[in-house]
Amino acid sequence: MGEEKKALFIIFGGTGDLANRKLYPSLYRLYKKGYLKDHFAVIGTARREWSNDYYREIVMKNIEELTESTEHAAAFASHFYYQSHNVKDTEHYVNLEKLACMLDEKYQLEQNRLFYLAMSPKFFGIIAKNIKEQNLLTENGFDRLIIEKPFGHDYDSAYELNEEIRASFTEDQIYRIDHYLGKEMIQNISAIRFGNQLIESMWNNRYISNIQVTLSESLGVEERGGYYDTSGALRDMVQNHILQVVALLAMEPPTRLKDSEIRDEKIKVLRALRVYNDEEVRKNFVRGQYGKSTIEGSTLHGYRKEANVDPESQTETFVAGKLFIDNYRWAGVPFYVRTGKRLAEKGSQIDIEFKNVPLNLFQEEAEEDLPPNVLSIFISPVEGFSLKLNTKKIGPGMRTEPIHLTHTHSAEMTANSPEAYEKLLLDCLNGDATNFTHWDEVAASWIFIDAIRQAWNKVECAFPNYPSGSMGPIESDDLLKRDGFHWHWEPEAE
Ligand code: NAD
Repeated sequence: MGEEKKALFIIFGGTGDLANRKLYPSLYRLYKKGYLKDHFAVIGTARREWSNDYYREIVMKNIEELTESTEHAAAFASHFYYQSHNVKDTEHYVNLEKLACMLDEKYQLEQNRLFYLAMSPKFFGIIAKNIKEQNLLTENGFDRLIIEKPFGHDYDSAYELNEEIRASFTEDQIYRIDHYLGKEMIQNISAIRFGNQLIESMWNNRYISNIQVTLSESLGVEERGGYYDTSGALRDMVQNHILQVVALLAMEPPTRLKDSEIRDEKIKVLRALRVYNDEEVRKNFVRGQYGKSTIEGSTLHGYRKEANVDPESQTETFVAGKLFIDNYRWAGVPFYVRTGKRLAEKGSQIDIEFKNVPLNLFQEEAEEDLPPNVLSIFISPVEGFSLKLNTKKIGPGMRTEPIHLTHTHSAEMTANSPEAYEKLLLDCLNGDATNFTHWDEVAASWIFIDAIRQAWNKVECAFPNYPSGSMGPIESDDLLKRDGFHWHWEPEAE
């Protein structure tokens, strides 16, 4: 059982998809583990007129699959309160403040407050302003603000949004969520690197030839077409998740595993990303959009036919790119990244390819070149590692064959590993910002992304250019082929 935390959660957007699918189950998991017990309360706010009882029913429905017993779930749900609230209406914050004070006393929450903005980013500024002006911030406990992505749609809008929020909250009170940072295997990157002399001593441009990061989705945009069409894969996935993974892979060892030290190192990586001019964008980045295809007899329609998507849309649903980090450790090592929707398989994987041996002693007997060593990190759905090595093939002579040393978490271990949102909520309760994004990281990421977006905006692309169920446009493979490499993770196209 964990050490009990005392806090009031105020969830803006309490009737929304994120709250229902992620936040309530995660809070319940923390309750089951004893981190939340007697001294916590949740206020859900949204525009709809709901009673506390109805809200509690909804909460119980959303944790159904996890519940130990109806009584246990009901005891948990009894800590939930609903307040109908239009975030633009100042009056409502006065009522919210009264309810918050009442709950603070009732549950002895020591004035600890966690404000979770689970709603459209266009409201973040106004909510932050009202929280402060209507005295929802407390004197004695902690005040922490959790905000969901997207954080702006380019550098300027992110800067403006940050200024609005910073008028009410200090940087160390702001927790910008990137749920990738809550994933078990993403957190494992630091353990593999800094827990193993074997690995970390080779973690540089002397031994590594290239690094590949793939975040692949098999679904299309589903019901998110309206939002996605204004965003696209570059902003939706690369600016945040992919660049965060790159920063963790490339950062210098921190002096301690403390949030401020780790963030400092990540920021340096993001600032060292080479920002491309238009010509370099054309050479180093590939965009794609899925078209229709027939898989197992059923036809999947293309992106432009999705609900709420412009039939002439120029929005990319796929990105592949080659990044350079201009510092001493990584000079000359390409980082290839790719992400997309409606790809052959859902999965996230990192592959670190090492340089070839300087001399192939086995050349005379071999039919093929000695393949390079590759360390693969499986992020999801499988969690684990694999290291590809060359060994002697059993039998006469000195022929070699590659073998894989693989360790994967069992299905049971994976199922029991805490959900990303659960871990991040607990981190926030503990005041640990390691797995959240600092403003300086957001700023550096947008500067890199804006250059690509601006170059793309100048030229129309002949979309669609990859069939659903493939691994993206052919140019994505060419990006590596040109350099003598290939994607190590190549799921079979349907
Ligand atoms: P949603 O549309 O399902 O929910 C939005 C919520 O905001 C609802 O509760 C709605 O009632 C409330 N709301 C809207 N206008 C309001 C107003 N004027 N006053 C008060 N309440 C109002 O959205 P969602 O999918 O839950 O996403 C919320 C945030 O989380 C967004 O920033 C989104 O980008 C982000 N996000 C969502 C997911 C996800 O899985 N759903 C994943 C990552 C990030």
